[in-house]
Amino acid sequence: LFVSFEGGDGAGKSTQLGLLATWLEGAGHEVVRTREPGGTDLGRQLRAAVLHGEDVGPRTEALLYATDRAHHVDTVVRPALARGAVVLTDRYLDSSVAYQGDGRDLGAEEVERLSAWATQGLLPRLTVLLDLDPQVGLGRLTGAPDRLERAGLEFHARTRRAFLERARTGGDRWLVLDATRPTGELHEAVRARVAGLLGR
Ligand code: C5P
Repeated sequence: LFVSFEGGDGAGKSTQLGLLATWLEGAGHEVVRTREPGGTDLGRQLRAAVLHGEDVGPRTEALLYATDRAHHVDTVVRPALARGAVVLTDRYLDSSVAYQGDGRDLGAEEVERLSAWATQGLLPRLTVLLDLDPQVGLGRLTGAPDRLERAGLEFHARTRRAFLERARTGGDRWLVLDATRPTGELHEAVRARVAGLLGR
């Protein structure tokens, strides 16, 4: 089972991913917790470059994320799925479609094609969207902001709309949750959906 967590910065993706991982492990599943960008050694270098390196144009940015993703899928995600593990990723291609496609104005369809090529069409069975007003999400962050976090509120509002629109038209792959709800309630909603997919 392949599950991705999506949403703006500070929406609680990592918290929910961790809670789900602990629950699944308790139930005896092998769980691989991973992230994009940065789920591999190469990915960590790319993450540093794209978030803290020199300014690059939108196409370069999209290709760096796509490079990270192609290598991540080849070396982490597919092998784990092949041995029957549950893979939980903090961000996947929907982030690129929202951030580079709509946020950076490259166009959602082009970024979707690039992502499909990079992943050879691998989609999660479930994508949990933690939806949050970016003003609230950015306010929750601690530590020094990266380049994306410093982008304007208008940028983040655009990516939020892009995520919601993708979820609305994306069928039963999506579970959209209001990220202002209490952590425990959100976890229960995620767990209920995952339990259904695991057939119990
Ligand atoms: O969620 P995480 O901390 O891993 O994301 C790092 C930064 O990269 C965030 O500011 C996020 O908005 C940005 N990002 C992006 N495009 C992606 C993935 C992440 O702009 N495809």
